[in-house]
Parts: sequence; structure tokens; C-alpha cells
Amino acid sequence: MARIVMKFGGTSVGDIARIKNVANRVKAEVDRGNQVAVAVSAMSGVTNQLVDYCTQMAPLHDAREYDAVVATGEQVTSGLLAIGLQELGLQARSWAGWQIPIVTDDAHGKARIEKIDGSEIIAAMEKGHVAVVAGFQGIGPENRVSTLGRGGSDTTAVALAAALKADRCDIYTDVDGVYTTDPRIVKTAKKLDKITYEEMLEMASLGAKVLQTRSVEMAMKHHVRVQVLSSFSDVPGTLVCDEEEIVEKALVSGIAYSRDEAKVTLVGVQDQPGVAAGIFGPLAAANINVDMIVQNTARDGTTDVTFTTGRADLERALKVVKDNMKVPCKSIITDKAVVKVSVIGVGMRSHAGVAQTMFGALADKNINIHIISTSEIKVSVLISEEYTELALRALHTAYGLDAA
Ligand code: ADP
Ligand code: ASP
Ligand code: MG
Repeated sequence: MARIVMKFGGTSVGDIARIKNVANRVKAEVDRGNQVAVAVSAMSGVTNQLVDYCTQMAPLHDAREYDAVVATGEQVTSGLLAIGLQELGLQARSWAGWQIPIVTDDAHGKARIEKIDGSEIIAAMEKGHVAVVAGFQGIGPENRVSTLGRGGSDTTAVALAAALKADRCDIYTDVDGVYTTDPRIVKTAKKLDKITYEEMLEMASLGAKVLQTRSVEMAMKHHVRVQVLSSFSDVPGTLVCDEEEIVEKALVSGIAYSRDEAKVTLVGVQDQPGVAAGIFGPLAAANINVDMIVQNTARDGTTDVTFTTGRADLERALKVVKDNMKVPCKSIITDKAVVKVSVIGVGMRSHAGVAQTMFGALADKNINIHIISTSEIKVSVLISEEYTELALRALHTAYGLDAA
């Protein structure tokens, strides 16, 4: 007998027929003699609709009320799944985040889980009941409903698996595993049997939304065995695991992209000590993430400073920069039509030339690189958004990742 957490994403619970399909999959695990807790997302499209309602009410709304609204999608699907399981003859009940409780901090809209009390869920599972948990939500300070950031049901599932000391956390979605790159864009993408926590963390944080970044952080920290599988087929999925479990390590395991980027260039900034601190200090104080940064060598006593930030943060970032400029710059240029493409692999640690393959492949396609950044296991480039698909395909081929 194993204790399993199963998570079903938005497409998997997209309508009543699909929720019935999920109920059957859950029953199959129970029939194998396993203890099961389930985390569910809202029906696909529902969270977007709820976010849109908040924006229509007021573009800059109270984040605590935003959470009260957007958390409702998961309450619907958790209740419906519990009904579906009861119809199949199982004992089941739903739990909202606050009922467990899943305690979070007060960062409404992107709250972090601080603590989960698994006792009621464990008691239910030990009686052979199925516990259905609304994903994406928790309870913050002052008894306010909180949400975990978009894609947060993955994090609910992994955190629950850690709290319940589950043997496995199975993430059911609309693709049958983690691929070398987004299979919806590159048709020759290959499914990976296994991927390391570290690589999956980079893939997720660099844009592959198949798992929320925080869910991978959590899995890595608590050694939760995570599998990514399809809700619609029975083929084996991808196991996210420790590096030691992977015998053949590819040089590059995956390629990710993120369209959530914007580029800002400060042209002709005075070249003197304290300039970078003067630009980036106020951005950090305003909680605006800055990702890639380049500063050119000075000529005529001035230099250009370029950085990237999230597309949604661009206007705020510009205001902060302008309000805090202590030294003059000639002009500020912005570009939202950019994408960050990254190649990821633990094999890079011990091999030279990985970046050169990337630059060569992009040059062959005449794709200009705006910014480059590297770390131990990834190389990222910022390019014009119009070349996203071309670049992904060219890199996929250049690193020998195409499916036979
Ligand atoms: P869910 O609603 O089940 O949480 P998501 O839409 O959040 O599903 O995540 C699944 C999607 O992630 C897939 O449909 C796929 O387009 C996308 N994706 C991006 N990169 C990858 C990758 N490397 N492997 C698999 N899927 C990926
Ligand atoms: N429903 C939420 C979202 O769309 C959470 C999730 O699906 O994981 O972001
Ligand atoms: Mg998701």
C-alpha cells in the first residue's frame, strides 16, 4: 500500500465529463489499495476569467479581495470531484485551503505556504476516504484567503505530499510528461523519462510552465518523488528525481522560453561609481525583479546600461528609474517584443562549448542576440520575440534533441 497525492490541472477538470474521468482515475488508485489525497485546479479558463473580473472592477485592486475572488474556481472543482467519487461508491469529501488549514504568508496573489496541518487528511485517508483539496489557495494572516500565484495547484500538491509524507506526488496534466521543450511549439520534442530536480527547477523558472517553480523547489527540499503524467492516456510519464538516479546525463536536457520579458536601455549614462547601485537599488526596494543586466564599456565618459524585467512590471520599473535617476542619461529605450530562450543541462558543468553551439545555431538562422547570461547549468539569450519558434527549433536540432 502506498500513500499518493494526485493533482489534476485545469484541462483535466475542464468540464463535467472530464471530472468524471478524473474520478475514475482516482478510484483506480484506491482499488489498488492505496491511500489517496487529490489536489485540483479550477476548470481551464476559469481563473483567467476571475482575474479579468477583478481588473474590470478596478485595474489596481486590493490583492486580498483578488484572492477572495480567484480562489473560488478551485472550490467548485473540489466539490464536484468529491460528488463524482461518491457516485462511484467511494467515501470522499472536499477541503478548502482554510479548512485544512494550509497556512501562508501575507503576500496576497503569490503567497508562500508556511505550514500545513495534515492531521485531518491523514485521519480521513486512514479510514479509506479520499481527501479532495482545492489547489492554489490557503489562509493568510488575519484569516484572509490567499492564493499561491498562477499555476499554484502544483505547489499545493507537492506541499501536501511533503506534509502527508506521501510516497509519490503524481501531477496529471494535458501532456504526458516533461519534454525537451514545449511540445506544442516543437513537434520533434522528446519526452524525458527522468529529469533532475535542479534541471526541472531551471526549466520551470526559465518559462516551462508544466510545473510551477515553487512546486519544484518544494519537491527538491523535501525529496518528494514527483511524476508528470497525462490525464488522458496511460503511458508512463516523467519522474523528477535526484541526479544520482539518472545514469545517462545529457549535455543539454531541455530548452525553455519565456515571453514574460521586457528590455530597458538607459542610453548615455554618466560613467561614475555608484551608478548601478543608483539604478538597481530603488528597483529592488520597489520589489521589482531585474533579471539580465549588461553594461557597456564607457566611451566619452558615458555608458549604456540595459536590463530586463517582467513585462507586467515594465511601467512600474520605468517610473522607479525615472523618479530615482541621480545622474543624467540621454534617453531611455524600452522593448516588450523580446523573448528569453534558455538551454539547460547538468552535463554543462563538465563540458565546454555548450554556449558556442547556441550562438552558432542562432547565427546560422540570422537571429540577433540582445543579451546573454549564463550560470552553472544554463545559458540564456534574449532575442526578438518574432524568432521564438525558429530559435527553439534550431537549438533543438543543434543539441541533437530531435525525436528520431
Ligand atoms: P495544467 O493546467 O495541467 O497545470 P499547464 O498548462 O499549467 O497544465 O502546463 C502544461 C503545459 O505546459 C503543456 O500543455 C505544455 O504546452 C507546456 N509546456 C511548456 N514547456 C513544456 C515542457 N518542456 N514539457 C511539457 N510541457 C511543457
Ligand atoms: N487555477 C490556477 C491558475 O490557473 C492554479 C492552477 O491551475 O494551478 O493559475
Ligand atoms: Mg499548471
